[in-house]
Parts: sequence; structure tokens; C-alpha cells
Amino acid sequence: MATQRITKQRLAIVDALSSQINFKGAQEIHALLVASGETIGLSTVYRNLTEMFEARDVDLIIGADGESLYRLCSDDHHHHLTCKACGHAIEIVGEALEVWAKQVGLDHGFSDISHTLEITGVCKACRSA
Ligand SMILES: [Zn+2]
Ligand SMILES: [Zn+2]
Ligand SMILES: [Zn+2]
Repeated sequence: MATQRITKQRLAIVDALSSQINFKGAQEIHALLVASGETIGLSTVYRNLTEMFEARDVDLIIGADGESLYRLCSDDHHHHLTCKACGHAIEIVGEALEVWAKQVGLDHGFSDISHTLEITGVCKACRSA
């Protein structure tokens, strides 16, 4: 029974995230779920989002105020160019960065090399507003 309930809540969270273009904090996601009629606690949302991130089902970036923000993203390895003003995030792939990051690790004798990189700025729409 417990498993079933978690699955239903997980699906509701995936559903809420799939309708969002921008990265959202757990509280915002919780508010969306409540607004759509779900009975779900904030701590359940937090726990599910953490598990989903660990399973790489969602992407996580840290917002300007240090809050964790989540979004459903494409499966392939990618980075984000995120607007500090409106939160809009574009998925970017940088071949030069991938090669460089790996080479730097190898040069220092590292194995199992991975990296995270988020680029922030102010988008065109926000700048002209
Ligand atoms: Zn992404
Ligand atoms: Zn913007
Ligand atoms: Zn990368």
C-alpha cells in the first residue's frame, strides 16, 4: 500500500513538473500540486524531489537565494544557461567543455571524472523589459 501511495504522489509531481518550463523550488511545486487538488505534504515533495534527483529523473540547480530548484530535463548530459531574473533555463551542450573537463581530470591522475556547470545571466527578454 505504502509503495502504491508513493508512486501516485511521484506521478503527480512528475505531472506538475512536466507542465513547467522553468526550474521550480519544492515549495512552488507543492503549491502547484495543492492547486491541482492533490493531498500531499511539503516534506513528501522534498523527499520525492531528492530521490528523483538521485535517480537523475530531474535536474537540480541552486537559485540565487540558495534554494534548490528542479526541472524535468532531457536524459542526455547537458548544462543550463539560466536567467537570474525570470528563471528561464536553456539546455546547452558544450563539446569543448566536456573534452577540457575530462582532460584536466586525467592530467591530474583522476578517474571516474564528472562535473557540474551552470551558467547564469540575464536573458534578452528580461533585459529589454
Ligand atoms: Zn536540463
Ligand atoms: Zn529572464
Ligand atoms: Zn558537461
